[in-house]
Amino acid sequence: MAISFDLTGRRALVTGANTGIGQAIAVALAEAGAAVALAGRSPATETAALIAAKGGRAVDLRADLSSIAPVDALIADTVAELGGLDILVNNAGIIRRNDLAVFTEEDWDAVVDTNLKTLFFLSQAAARVMMAAGRGKIINIASLLSFQGGIRVPSYAAAKSGVAGLTRAMANELAPAGVQVNAIAPGYIATNNTAALQADETRNRQILERIPAGRWGRPEDIAGAAVFLASGASDYVTGHILAVDGGWLAR
Ligand code: NDP
Repeated sequence: MAISFDLTGRRALVTGANTGIGQAIAVALAEAGAAVALAGRSPATETAALIAAKGGRAVDLRADLSSIAPVDALIADTVAELGGLDILVNNAGIIRRNDLAVFTEEDWDAVVDTNLKTLFFLSQAAARVMMAAGRGKIINIASLLSFQGGIRVPSYAAAKSGVAGLTRAMANELAPAGVQVNAIAPGYIATNNTAALQADETRNRQILERIPAGRWGRPEDIAGAAVFLASGASDYVTGHILAVDGGWLAR
């Protein structure tokens, strides 16, 4: 059997696709042949233009995923626009930093709802479509903080650890239906999300000294793993958390 990374004819939904890691994943899936629905609060105009410039197909479906209110409509709209749904990339995420002693309920709920609760219910709605089709790929964007505690980010560490557990739970239940569920745990990736860390000379030096590869990751470093997990080449991989971190966890 030929091993293929070709996604021609596949239909994908990428959340948080207007920038950063989500943008790179959406562009890479389109380059591999998939039609891609982009979902986020802000318009994904730039991402859609990048995909169109490469001859790909993208539709910009707006959704605020801070609650589960739009999830059923988002999946229905994706299926209506693209004719089906084969790949879901749960990338949208936020982080809130504060000392544990003063961490607020608002910061807890915002991070856990966006990064974990919506991820589950969007996956549930997608899984119904995929199970009926007998195939599908769900890719969750986890974090190094799926494995480590971090500093002053308790709700983020809890949510991303939850994403790892949920990936395994969903993988178990969906494997018999031909649906694979995996996660990518990015290391330190240069995006808007990490701009403050990159700008802080001391923290930037500490981070670079700690990364065996000696450099920040690029969003494209994550996109390669996403194409693998979206393709037939990973059909026997499920419930796995793939770290793409320049060796951070190996150290
Ligand atoms: P960015 O802040 O650059 O992008 C975050 C994306 O999530 C944006 O597209 C944003 O869209 C979207 N998003 C946030 N809240 C919502 C919401 N309520 N509804 C819809 N979309 C939303 O971050 P990154 O690209 O760095 O991060 C992407 C993912 O990777 C996140 O899950 C993050 O936790 C994870 N990650 C990142 C790492 C890094 O080093 N950069 C490391 C480990 C994990 P909008 O602009 O519309 O809000």
